Amino acid sequence: MLPVVALVGRPNVGKSTLFNYLTRTRDALVADFPGLTRDRQYGRVRRGQKDYFVVDTGGIVETELGIDEQAMRQVSYAVEEADLILLLVDARHGLNAGDEAIAERLRKTGKPVFLVVNKIDRADLAVIAGEFYALGLGEPHPISASHAIGVDTLLDELEAKLPAPEAPESEEKSPGIRIAVVGRPNVGKSTLVNRILGEDRVVVYDQPGTTRDSVYIPFERHGKVYTLIDTAGIRRRGRVSEAIEKFSVIKALQAIETAHVVIFLIDAREGVTDQDANLLGMVLEIGRGLIIGLNKWDGLDPDQKDQVRRQIDLKLPFLDFAEKHYISALHGTGVGHLLDAVEAIYEASTRDLSASRLTKILQDAVVAHQPPLVRGRRIKLKYAHQGGQIPPVIVIHGNQTEEIPGAYKRYLINTFRDALDIQGTPIKLEFRSSE
Ligand code: GDP
Ligand code: GDP
Repeated sequence: MLPVVALVGRPNVGKSTLFNYLTRTRDALVADFPGLTRDRQYGRVRRGQKDYFVVDTGGIVETELGIDEQAMRQVSYAVEEADLILLLVDARHGLNAGDEAIAERLRKTGKPVFLVVNKIDRADLAVIAGEFYALGLGEPHPISASHAIGVDTLLDELEAKLPAPEAPESEEKSPGIRIAVVGRPNVGKSTLVNRILGEDRVVVYDQPGTTRDSVYIPFERHGKVYTLIDTAGIRRRGRVSEAIEKFSVIKALQAIETAHVVIFLIDAREGVTDQDANLLGMVLEIGRGLIIGLNKWDGLDPDQKDQVRRQIDLKLPFLDFAEKHYISALHGTGVGHLLDAVEAIYEASTRDLSASRLTKILQDAVVAHQPPLVRGRRIKLKYAHQGGQIPPVIVIHGNQTEEIPGAYKRYLINTFRDALDIQGTPIKLEFRSSE
């Protein structure tokens, strides 16, 4: 479980600028895939000692009467899930009644808050930071998000304060292959989890407990051990009166992070929503094996089925590596194949890849299709070795590698994928340049 940092503040104080700074990644994966709609609200940060999720709470709206309560409630949800809060204020506007109202709310949460005074890029504004002491949130941290002044110092301090990630992925609690079942409310997650566990020859172990809101369910099938990470929480059975759960993106992200393979359910009758596409983008960014389950396939006529298939290809071109399964969790159609697919994807994402083989594939790829010239000099790619598993990481050494265009990276990924027959998982490339 990764810690969660929430960005809070009035509109225009610089939250999304800071968010972009935090989630800017040098990974090949995200930036280079056209069609990948980046969620501008949720991101995964890898910059220093600790990894974490960041949430841009966006929406605090001010009215003549103060803070809009409905908008504030949205922010409260995000704050509830956060381990640490960054309250941003704008040095150019000075201390403001809106800031005070938000600060008061945040103080009541008892959570650690960093007060961040943004836009100090004009020298005369640096002194203003001091006036924000009045908010009672401790020492103000002056930064300029857009000019990258003070940001790294702030983030170093923040990361030092973050709790160490909990480790639910211990062998005891979640043995074997960890499978997250993720999707929006009502897509059929509980039905699928119950269906899988109800299969013949599935032996469900005692459950050692839950972590945050997901339930970990270890089980055995054909002598193989798996753990289902159930984000719907099938234990809600019986609690009849429970209102429809609020969809928690953080819960879904934590499950994806913890899993080896993600089964992402989409209600085929509703098609791919923007939220589906965003979360699927995060599966790619986090780098997990992925099965897209188009559920409720039972209710569709042939025209509708065609339409859904077309929509998937159109909306999710960046997920062409993922298997699509057309299933009915309710009737059990197609469900039996899911675990076989999980098994194959897990194998592909944990395979050992030899440096000599990777280097050979790289060199053949370069001969077949040369990297482009940059300012008259050709990008050189020399050798490759494996840099990690789940997802498979391929480290490529060469010259001017930071200039490689997205299209060429995609070409390399596809070439490695085909040559190594790695299906169902993203492949990450990392480049090391000797100049
Ligand atoms: P949000 O509404 O809180 O997400 O704010 P944005 O990140 O969209 O920023 C609002 C405006 O402030 C944009 O025009 C940014 O370019 C600008 N901005 C953000 N950070 C800085 C900064 O450090 N200095 C200056 N001068 N402008 C900034
Ligand atoms: P969750 O919120 O994602 O856990 O979704 P549930 O498993 O609670 O399912 C929501 C509703 O969809 C329930 O009424 C299920 O009976 C129904 N449902 C689930 N899977 C299917 C399916 O494959 N076909 C049909 N027709 N309905 C389904």
